[in-house]
Amino acid sequence: MKRNKILSKLTSISRVFVFIWFMVSCSADNRIIDAPILFNEERKELTLQYLSERYGLEQTEPTINPKMIVLHWTVIPTFEESFETFNSASLPNRPDIKAASALNVSAQFMVDRDGTIYRLLPETTMARHVIGLNHCAIGIENIGGTEDFPLTEAQVGSNIWLVNYLSKKYKIAYLIGHYEYTLFEGHELWLEKDDGYRTAKDDPGADFMKKVRDGTLKNDFKPSTRIQQVEIE
Ligand SMILES: [Zn+2]
Repeated sequence: MKRNKILSKLTSISRVFVFIWFMVSCSADNRIIDAPILFNEERKELTLQYLSERYGLEQTEPTINPKMIVLHWTVIPTFEESFETFNSASLPNRPDIKAASALNVSAQFMVDRDGTIYRLLPETTMARHVIGLNHCAIGIENIGGTEDFPLTEAQVGSNIWLVNYLSKKYKIAYLIGHYEYTLFEGHELWLEKDDGYRTAKDDPGADFMKKVRDGTLKNDFKPSTRIQQVEIE
């Protein structure tokens, strides 16, 4: 009898431990896997140069003040290939945007097709992913976005979770799809100096944006329309 009592006590203690372990493993940061891309001295210098030349911001550290989240798709079908594309410090073969800066493109986050969330850079380190707004925008890349590899429901769910998570940490006023970025021309956050430097974007699609917006309504993001511009004109 005594032995049984001790055993049952041990069992309930271990149940408590399992419960605590479960709570810890479900905490926010455990859902994010750190997979840092190369951020060496060259990338730091290119980022500081980008902030200075494109935006007129003279900084000693390549940091941002997050006010916006921009969602993307990679078009590349796997995490490994997408990671490789972002990993080098300088742009390998993008003549269309190399004239503006030799800094390689990247994003702070990448969401795989099964919904796994990878953090490629510290959240407040600048990544080059959206013209005009990199100084205040956290980028989330989603693997896929082609006819053969359309974005998945798992990615919708992870984007919703991640947007809510980031909105608790930072004062995020806007959530936009990359295809909406030119709506911010003339906005106080828009800092790109060259009116000729634009690329046409359709990622991550209106359908994906609607689903993520529907799941993040509680944050009361401001609409990404050309309100300010209309008032000026
Ligand atoms: Zn994009």
